[in-house]
Formats: sequence, structure tokens, C-alpha cells
Amino acid sequence: MSDNAQAIWSAAQQTLRGMLKTELYNLWFAPVSASRMDGDVLTLEVADEFCEFWLKDNYLDVLRSVVSRTAVRPVQIAFAVRAAEPVGVAGSGTAVPDESAESSLVPIPSPVAKEPAARRPEAFFNPNNVFDTFVVGSNNHHAHAASVAVAQKPGLTYNPLFLFGGVGLGKTHLLQAIGQHVHTHRRNARIGYLSCERFTNEFIEALQNGQLPRFRKKYRELDVLLIDDVQFLAGKERIQEEFFHTFNALHDCHKQIVLTCDRPANEIQGLEQRLTSRFEWGMTADLKAPDVETRLAILHKKAAALSVELPPEIISFLANRIRTNIRRLEGALVRVAAYAQLTGKDLDLETIETLLREILQEEGKVAISIGEIQRRVADYYDIRLADMTSKRRPENIAFPRQIAMYLARQLTDHSLSSIGDAFGGRDHGTVLHACRQVRDRMEVESKVRQDVGYLEKQLTR
Ligand code: ADP
Ligand code: MG
Repeated sequence: MSDNAQAIWSAAQQTLRGMLKTELYNLWFAPVSASRMDGDVLTLEVADEFCEFWLKDNYLDVLRSVVSRTAVRPVQIAFAVRAAEPVGVAGSGTAVPDESAESSLVPIPSPVAKEPAARRPEAFFNPNNVFDTFVVGSNNHHAHAASVAVAQKPGLTYNPLFLFGGVGLGKTHLLQAIGQHVHTHRRNARIGYLSCERFTNEFIEALQNGQLPRFRKKYRELDVLLIDDVQFLAGKERIQEEFFHTFNALHDCHKQIVLTCDRPANEIQGLEQRLTSRFEWGMTADLKAPDVETRLAILHKKAAALSVELPPEIISFLANRIRTNIRRLEGALVRVAAYAQLTGKDLDLETIETLLREILQEEGKVAISIGEIQRRVADYYDIRLADMTSKRRPENIAFPRQIAMYLARQLTDHSLSSIGDAFGGRDHGTVLHACRQVRDRMEVESKVRQDVGYLEKQLTR
């Protein structure tokens, strides 16, 4: 371990400890160590991929700004997953004795004791994502009420509960709040909480290792199954089949299922009809962008949780400028709060505007939808809109499609995989490849540069 890296990280940890709630700090930041500093990149070592994603999703900006200030120069953050310990890596969620241990002379620990902390359901939940911290407004009260009902009486009210809405509007928060509520009130309930992506990966792994029966048992014996981001099922037939049977097994036994998605079920392209219809069996509730009152309430609540006091004009600046994504609103607040605490200076709006430049630029992007981009690009190149999602590969279709993917990446907030989904269930690698392709050609072909420039201007006007 490099001393320099560790010294910077220890000092940054001190700051973080002062900024964050103790449970939050202890759960997510205390176990992180720094492995090296290469140039201006500090590599942090985390326990598993989930920690990495969680930190990236929720605290990358904060980490970057705290570490940069500690090092007194701009520092980027990279993550590395610590080499896995041999015990308990096989199963996740439910404890399954590990066969390798049985042949050794070491006493076999009980399944519960064997299960490492990071695999217990509560270890997957962010302690902030509970009902108490969720601000209810006109944009989400229906989704909130349905979630509370389900958490209080799992399997008895709405089943499945299908929550949908755009990025950063509280889907994961509500899903985890349900999980944590059930976990606190029914200690014995078996709760499965995972992203659809992880369900897919575990299934593939089980398939490869001949452990399908174990995989099935694990998911079909749950009391509550919480699956985040089911749009990820799009275009994956084999996994849809498996998910269909898991769904039926649980639903038949009145076990609660809660799903989240970035769009209504019937808009997931490449999802089998039998799944779409099941997703709509119970209760469907959407989360919309918050209105200004809700944004203000969220800011006040989060500022109190961070123990910062910000002048009202700054709170209202944030509420007025960041409207579409609560994660972004929160990110902006944390950045401003960290800056205020670290510098001890009074903040004026000009400083804030500079501090938040990237976030405000991001906010400017979201008004454009992928559908709009596809329509414009199809019009411009005179191809059919359907070709944006088709599998046809002639160059005069494939390249405009790549341009549309590139523009979706540049001008919207969507992840690579959700862009892939919107283009007929392509995977994120295809989108990455398309972006690279367009960028490369823009460098050498002025016509491509002009076309893309023109489309970009049209779309952002
Ligand atoms: P999604 O899963 O819809 O993309 P998240 O649930 O991850 O969004 O929410 C993004 C961030 O915004 C999280 O930190 C979450 O706690 C916060 N958040 C979202 N909605 C609310 C709300 N109504 N009240 C308080 N915090 C919220
Ligand atoms: Mg989410």
C-alpha cells in the first residue's frame, strides 16, 4: 500500500466522518482503504462490486471533492474490489453451506454464522433509504402509499407492486424502504433484494456451474422478492423464462413481489407479453419529477441530515435550478455543503454556480428523450423509425443508428444499457462501440462531423 495514498485517504476519512451520519460512515466509508496513488488517481479498495456501485452512484462527487481538497490538487477516484475471501462467496442472500468446507477438518460453522456480514439482507440496504427519510409530494404520494401498504402487509395487498419512473426519482429508495421495513418488523422473513442485472448474472453463473436447482430454491423460497430495474430483462429471452417461473412460484404462494422499472411495463421493448401482463396484475405506481415545494422539502430534510445550515437563497437556487432528478439535487447539496464546511467561507451564488457547473449542465440535458433523438436522426437520414430498433445492418441504416446512440449518450442521462434497450434491446457494449465508432469517424470525416453537429444543434435548440 502506498503511504501517500493511505495518508490522504485517512485524512479524507476524518472529513467524511464529520460530514456524514455515523451509521452511514461506518457502513460505507470506514471499511474502505486506499491502495495506491498513480499520478492524480487515487484507488480505493472496496469489499465487493455492490459497494463500488453504491459509492459511485451516491458519493462519487463527494469523494472526489473531499479527497481533492485533502490533497490540495484535483484527484480522481478509481475503485478496486478487494480480493474475495474464500468463505461465503458462493451464495448470496441466503446462506448455503460451502461444500469445500465440509471436506476440511475445520468445524463447519452454522449457516447463519458463516454468512458474511456483507451478504445479510440489511448489508445491501442503504440505511438512508427508509420511509422516514422519504419526502412525500404530489409527484410520488401514490407510489409511497402503495409501498407502505405492501411493507405493512407483504403478499396481502398489491402483488406485484410495480414502481416506475425516470432516473433518480426514488424507485430504489422505496424498494429498499419496503425491504428494511419488512426486515425490522418480521425478523424471520426471507427477503431477496437485488438488481435485475444481478439476478441475470447469478442465473448465468448457476447455469454454467450446474447449480440451477440451488439458484431456483434460493429465489423461489423467499417471502419477499424486491427486484430493481427490470427493464434490464429486455431482449433476454432465457432470463425472462426463468424470471417468469420465479414470479409464478412466488405469486402462487402469495409471496410479495416488488419491481422497479424506468418506464411502464408495456413500454419495455423486447419483453414477452406474459411478463408484461403479470407486471400489471397488481398495482402500478409511477414516480414523477418533484414540484418545487417537494424539492425544497427534500433539500431541507437532507441539509438537516448532513447537519449543515445553508442560507435560504442558496436552498432556493438549488430547488429552482435542479428539477428533474433527486439524486442530482442531493449531489448538488452535498457538494455545496462539503465546500462550505471545508472552506468555512460564506457562499455566494456565483461561487455556487461555478461549483455546480457540471451538475447544472447535466440538468440541461434531460429534456431530450431517446425517442426524440431517434425520430430526428431517422428523418434526417430518411430511414424508417423502425430501423432504429431493427436488426438490419446495411451501412446506410446502421451508421445513422450509431449516430442516434451516440447522441443519446451525449444528450441524455440514460445509462449505456438503457440506451441499448431503447435501440431494440442491444447491450451496453454495442452502445459503447457505436459511440467510439462515431467519434472516430467524426475525427476524420468532415461530413460526419457536420451531420452530427447539425443534429446536436437541432435537438438542443
Ligand atoms: P432511482 O432508483 O429512481 O433512480 P433513487 O431511489 O436511487 O432513484 O433516488 C436517488 C436519490 O434521491 C437517493 O439518494 C434517494 O434517497 C433520493 N430521493 C429520491 N426520492 C426522494 C424523496 N421523495 N425524498 C427523499 N429523498 C429522495
Ligand atoms: Mg434505482
